[in-house]
Amino acid sequence: MIEARELTKRYGGRTAVDRLSFTVRPGRVTGFLGPNGAGKSTTMRMILGLDEPTGGAVTVNGLRYDRLAAPLREVGSLLDARAVHGGRTVRQHLLGLARSNKIAGGRVDEVLEAVGLTEVAGQRAKALSLGMGQRLGIAAALLGDPGVLILDEPVNGLDTEGIRWIRDLLTSLAADGRTVFLSSHLMSEMELTADHLIVIGRGRLLADTDMRDFIESNSRGVTLLRTPDSEAQRMRVFLDAAGASVRLDARGGWRVGGLSPTEIGELARTHGLAIHELTPVFSSLEEVYTDMTRASVEYRGTATTTGTTTYEAEAEEKEPVR
Ligand code: ADP
Repeated sequence: MIEARELTKRYGGRTAVDRLSFTVRPGRVTGFLGPNGAGKSTTMRMILGLDEPTGGAVTVNGLRYDRLAAPLREVGSLLDARAVHGGRTVRQHLLGLARSNKIAGGRVDEVLEAVGLTEVAGQRAKALSLGMGQRLGIAAALLGDPGVLILDEPVNGLDTEGIRWIRDLLTSLAADGRTVFLSSHLMSEMELTADHLIVIGRGRLLADTDMRDFIESNSRGVTLLRTPDSEAQRMRVFLDAAGASVRLDARGGWRVGGLSPTEIGELARTHGLAIHELTPVFSSLEEVYTDMTRASVEYRGTATTTGTTTYEAEAEEKEPVR
């Protein structure tokens, strides 16, 4: 369990994390979302004792990280997969970590197997691809068989198979009763992996909620539309002209926002176009998240008449969704 209470971090005059309170519970995967610069990495570093809070506190299993008797056995983390001595082999890197944390050497082979790196155990870390480096970072996080895992962008650099692998791994770790806390900018992946969400913007809590509740209660009516391929482009022009938001759906067809199914149907009839499917659906996590964080993106670029771009901080404050 991870508990943050009024957690705050200021760098000079800038507040990176602002009175953040949340609990990350065991037995489920908790996703940590926020635009770039929202304070996610700073929060994770404070949980891991790498940054000192300016105010408030954060504990792991009830203790500050630096009070944990055997940190690697309680919390495994992956913050930056490149933070490895490149001259060491994969096995040497893990053996070094095991020794300095009084973990039996045999555990190294277990985690190598678990992350699929057994065959490259003798390779130097600097020779690993980005995806393999990421697997090595995950192996290190698993080394102490910890009850709490904190992973910053763990799917970075992984291919489709690797992404599916990590999704299954995290889901099974949570099903074992572990606490899994991860950040990712890949919304579709987060939607598939996380059960619970903590969303922050400009260092503040925007939502702390069940994934399904978050999507269903913030969904703003999207319609899945399929037309014959030959008429798709014409339909698109009419939808744009009617002010609809149109995105491609991953399984084919369009996700249309801003118009009701009736309005879309009438639009097609007016222009003599056929419709093969017209289905109301929930927004995706990405759509809900984009709506919610639009107001809290750290700085919004504003084009000026001189062609330069000015940046202004927004000052909107809202109650978090719980
Ligand atoms: P995220 O991980 O959500 O992208 P960060 O936690 O990296 O956000 O950053 C939050 C804010 O704190 C940003 O404005 C960033 O520029 C600032 N920040 C982060 N680390 C430092 C640092 N060491 N010194 C000064 N400012 C920092």
